[in-house]
Amino acid sequence: MNAEIIAVGSELLLGQINNTNARFLSAQLASIGVNVYFHTVVGDNPGRLEKVLEVAKGRSDLIILTGGLGPTKDDLTKETIARQLSVDLAIDEVAMKSIEGYFNKTNRVMTENNRKQALVLKGAEVLQNDHGMAPGMLFTKGDQHYMLLPGPPSEMEPMFTKYGIPAITMKMSEQAKIVSRVLRFFGIGEAALETKLEDLIESQSNPTIAPLASESEVTIRLTASHASEETAAKLIDELEAKILARVGDYFYGYDDTSLINEVFKLLKTKGLTIAAAESLTGGLFQEQLTSLAGASSVLKGGVVCYTNEAKIDIVKVRKETISGEGAVSAACAEELAQNVSKLLGADIGISFTGVAGPDELEGHPAGTVFVGIHIKGKPTFSKMLQLAGTREINRVRAVKHGCRLLIN
Ligand code: ATP
Ligand code: MG
Repeated sequence: MNAEIIAVGSELLLGQINNTNARFLSAQLASIGVNVYFHTVVGDNPGRLEKVLEVAKGRSDLIILTGGLGPTKDDLTKETIARQLSVDLAIDEVAMKSIEGYFNKTNRVMTENNRKQALVLKGAEVLQNDHGMAPGMLFTKGDQHYMLLPGPPSEMEPMFTKYGIPAITMKMSEQAKIVSRVLRFFGIGEAALETKLEDLIESQSNPTIAPLASESEVTIRLTASHASEETAAKLIDELEAKILARVGDYFYGYDDTSLINEVFKLLKTKGLTIAAAESLTGGLFQEQLTSLAGASSVLKGGVVCYTNEAKIDIVKVRKETISGEGAVSAACAEELAQNVSKLLGADIGISFTGVAGPDELEGHPAGTVFVGIHIKGKPTFSKMLQLAGTREINRVRAVKHGCRLLIN
């Protein structure tokens, strides 16, 4: 929450008194974590006060005014705000009683003018004046809170401490809408990602940026807090754009989506089907896809072709490919992808062949994997991966890389 203080009073402009109210309020607000960005002093002049309010509205969440709540003709703060915000003024009965009590106690006669002091903005939260007559108030309109306080420090200070601060604290907790969004990345390590975003991470406080690595992916949680949910979301949009301008190549989705889910969504929207030939992944790709409801609309099926014989006999990989380039090769991956799509009549074929580990195979170190992709009407291609995890992690990562290739 950021605030500004508007001290109303021509005597301040004339240099007759110091603006100790602004000083007091600033210190108090700082102590509860409200940032004060502006102090303004304006005379007892409705036109100029209106102009000041107009500016304040565009830049502050909390606008605190002191002065001009008294009974005399030059006390115009309430009336000016009421007009500007199109709110009526209404007698506050509690304040009225307290003003009457004040007159009884001091044996003075109450004038009509004094009744004016019991007028408050309709719908405002009234702040009791324990040391004088004019009540303070807190009024909320749109994204702004307006707090009106009496001018005399002997009234204003205790009122603010006793009633003002709790009211502001309440608004802060009520109205700070927290919006958060998770950006998901694959193919870049946490350290590399953080390095690319280091200055942003260090300089940002709203939204905050929190990177987290898990399951071979990196996520960044952006969290913004603002009185208006819409503004919080806009703050996140702006930061997201900055982040994606730097590391957008690795970005694949939001919040609790997953790579397989993005593949599923994409195939579904495009009305495409897929088939898989899986060697080292042993059906993991299909297992993940079939875990999603509605998978039958995109997955035709697949083959777990673990041995060379299964690759040759069932998926019709050429014997020469196996004896030549080997099972762990681009050629084998591409034949698997192309043939399995044909075998099952799918628009897309994907294949995984490689060395899960821990031992090497065909002279390839553990973690060497080829993912083949065949998309109807396009040249078949493959990608070689050099993974550095355990057997289990390599299998999972191979599937993630396959998904990533399909999304691109
Ligand atoms: P009142 O009922 O006394 O008229 P008010 O809310 O109308 O109170 P003002 O008339 O603006 O307030 O100011 C009353 C007195 O309060 C001033 O004469 C001055 O002594 C003090 N005062 C007002 N504003 C400030 C300020 N910003 N800093 C310090 N003192 C102030
Ligand atoms: Mg006055």
